[in-house]
Amino acid sequence: MKPIGKITYAYLTKQFHLTGPYLKAIEAVGKRGDFTLGLELEMFEKEFARFCGMKEAIGVSSGTDALMLILKALGIGAGDEVITAPNSFIASASVIALTGATPRFVDVKDDYTLDPNKLTQAITKRTKAIIPVHLTGNICDLEPILTIANNHKIPVVEDCAQACGGKYDGKRVGSYGIAGAFSFHPMKILNVWGDGGAITTNDLKLAKQLRLWRNHGLVDRDTVAFFAPNSRLHTIQAAIALLELKKVEKIITKRQKLAELYDQLLRPLEPNVHVPQSADKSKNIQKTYTTYVIQVKKRDQLRDYLKSRGIESAVHYPTPIHLQKAAAYLKYEKGDFPVTENQAKTILTLPLHQYLKQSEIRYVVQCIKSFYLLEK
Ligand SMILES: *Cc1c(COP(=O)(O)O)cnc(C)c1O
Repeated sequence: MKPIGKITYAYLTKQFHLTGPYLKAIEAVGKRGDFTLGLELEMFEKEFARFCGMKEAIGVSSGTDALMLILKALGIGAGDEVITAPNSFIASASVIALTGATPRFVDVKDDYTLDPNKLTQAITKRTKAIIPVHLTGNICDLEPILTIANNHKIPVVEDCAQACGGKYDGKRVGSYGIAGAFSFHPMKILNVWGDGGAITTNDLKLAKQLRLWRNHGLVDRDTVAFFAPNSRLHTIQAAIALLELKKVEKIITKRQKLAELYDQLLRPLEPNVHVPQSADKSKNIQKTYTTYVIQVKKRDQLRDYLKSRGIESAVHYPTPIHLQKAAAYLKYEKGDFPVTENQAKTILTLPLHQYLKQSEIRYVVQCIKSFYLLEK
């Protein structure tokens, strides 16, 4: 099998090499000097809210700030606990600590999303929010999570950073909890030229508060309602996001097709390769495949082998949050979240993006096959 050239995980140079339309959009902002809370931001917020089927979208400076501002606006702080998944990107938990509250974790299922069966036992009198994470673009089992949360009168904040455009029961993610947090980081499905994020909500009062929270608590030019950070989405990034929003549905469709091919070719490789089952079809789920993550034997050797064949891969994420140095004060131990910890040793992110060819996917799988034949 001849190497067919580098197969990379990154794709931004392919996405943005025709810079014309973007520069034109940025120039328009520049010519108006409309940098702060400008026209394109307003337009993007309207379009994004419509895209998500929501009343309100609030542009903010990152996905991290989206999560943090929601928690702040819900009044969460010292003495409170917030539950999330320990296998997520660090921001899902750091935002909890940054409000002064304590992060609490609930282990995940085979598909990397929070396990509803383990949720109730983690809830205490101090639990003030639950942050399910639609990790890799797999959609959380929202129905049981919301039922448990509602029974305890605890708000659900969806971390949609990896699932923009995803659907559950035919409705977009970010529309199920009290609010949804989105990231427009360059490696997410809807991406901008730097950092950006948004919050979706149908709660008009909360939306009004969030608009203050992202802008110094300013009610008007000279009146400050409460101390708050500067977490605005820049008008230039909003102008880029407006262009990219039109492509999201197509990007997801393309990624789904390629992921299906991976699934189909990789499933016969059990037990060396484990492909988590597709989401329950009856629930009308749309996964976004921000990453394509499988579980494999001899992961690190396989990575080296793939690299030698010109194939990039990654691990999202090698150290679970509860075992990070930053979380030491929470006093979690190895073994507390066995599913997450076991996955951290076996997960592998294969290249998957809208510019990949079917032949490249076939080549990646061929290489995985030959690795396990050699290892026999
Ligand atoms: C990327 C990401 C975030 C943070 O988004 P930023 O825009 O990078 O701040 C939060 N949660 C998850 C699951 C993410 O993947």
